[in-house]
Amino acid sequence: MCRLAREKWTATRYWEPPGEVMARIVMKFGGTSVADIERLRHVAGRVAKIAGEGNQVAVVLSAMAGTTNQLIEWTREMSSLHDAREYDAVVSTGEQVTIGLLAMALQEKGISARSWQGWQVPIRTDDVHGSARILEIDGADIIQRMEAGEVAVIAGFQGISPKNRIATLGRSGSDTTAVALAAALSADRCDIYTDVDGVYTADPRIVTAARKLDKITYEEMLEMASQGAKVLQTRSVELAMNHRVRVQVLSSFNDTPGTLVVDEDEIVEKAVVSGITYASGEAKVTLLQVSDRPGVAAAVFGPLAEANVNVDMIVQSASPDGTSTDMTFTVSRADLPRVRDILAQHRDAIGFQEVIADGDVVKVSVIGVGMRSHAGVAQRMFAALSEKGINIHAISTSEIKISVLIGAEYTELAVRSLHSAYGLDSA
Ligand code: ADP
Ligand code: ASP
Ligand code: MG
Repeated sequence: MCRLAREKWTATRYWEPPGEVMARIVMKFGGTSVADIERLRHVAGRVAKIAGEGNQVAVVLSAMAGTTNQLIEWTREMSSLHDAREYDAVVSTGEQVTIGLLAMALQEKGISARSWQGWQVPIRTDDVHGSARILEIDGADIIQRMEAGEVAVIAGFQGISPKNRIATLGRSGSDTTAVALAAALSADRCDIYTDVDGVYTADPRIVTAARKLDKITYEEMLEMASQGAKVLQTRSVELAMNHRVRVQVLSSFNDTPGTLVVDEDEIVEKAVVSGITYASGEAKVTLLQVSDRPGVAAAVFGPLAEANVNVDMIVQSASPDGTSTDMTFTVSRADLPRVRDILAQHRDAIGFQEVIADGDVVKVSVIGVGMRSHAGVAQRMFAALSEKGINIHAISTSEIKISVLIGAEYTELAVRSLHSAYGLDSA
């Protein structure tokens, strides 16, 4: 479920471009785009071009590809139950390297530039270390320097907590830094440069027939991101939607036009289904012979909610004898050990015979705003999966999405078959 962001923003004055071509632009580059010195020089070239056209530019960077994984690995090696504030102190460092290097590369090209770490802006967050939310960005200093012709190079993924500790925003958090900054700076657009040239109808790495979308609605992009399309962090899309930031996803390696994330009324021809996604970090939990009485769902899900465990799909089978039923639900795979502990602690209050957990599952979803006005979309999904002999363990729906839980071994087959079944394959 998506909660809408409740961030508050430091008001920045309304900015009117002084010339016709001039705009204020946030450019974000992901890990593959800044993977080494040569690629950072290439990024500097792209930034120089946009700045050279007279635009005011703020750049948000990720760490070099692989760096954050390595840093996380080290924190695990050092201590399995580590202090989340020290985790953030370590994993935020990758971005500090790339921003300094890019500022140097820009200076080499004769462009005035400086790097900004989260605390220097400042980007203020809450204190949920490891997945902090941005509360406020004070863009005044950056605006003043951009107006004087300086390019701001800002570390993605990091901010500063109320207790003045570095806080990180969760994996892929640089997307969120970029969109939040675009809102705070009243930027004309936020360009997310990555290793694919836009948002596709499915992950182009597993569906070769996937097509690039020229435009996608905020709602669809939000569902795609939250259902596994990692091209944008879910929170960045929530923010873009709430603050009406014009986001564009495009390649940092070529000049082909990217994908614009827009309001629904900007799309003339609405496809019934716009995209297929898969999310592999799921686990299925089944409680066997749960007593069939009022209050049992509250007894199961209450303690899980208290422990901040997000429960997604829920299926309860009919009770053949009126006394007990089986209950299946999904949680994030990372939460599985905690879920087992919580259920064991509350076993007497809930009343069940056994817990069976299966981490070998994947959630596949079909997404499209056109579903609101078309019948038979779910049926087509079930038929396509049944034709391939793929068993469905659980189903959940929203107004613009249908998700099914299936065995992980069928992921690629399911995504490709659904892509064809909804007529999304490129000619
Ligand atoms: P970056 O490092 O630039 O932030 P990411 O790896 O986070 O890049 O996101 C880009 C990746 O997202 C692509 O390489 C692609 O494999 C994946 N992806 C998944 N689903 C989609 C989709 N529907 N459209 C485009 N890319 C997708
Ligand atoms: N470097 C961080 C990560 O790998 C943030 C990002 O790339 O957006 O998750
Ligand atoms: Mg990313």
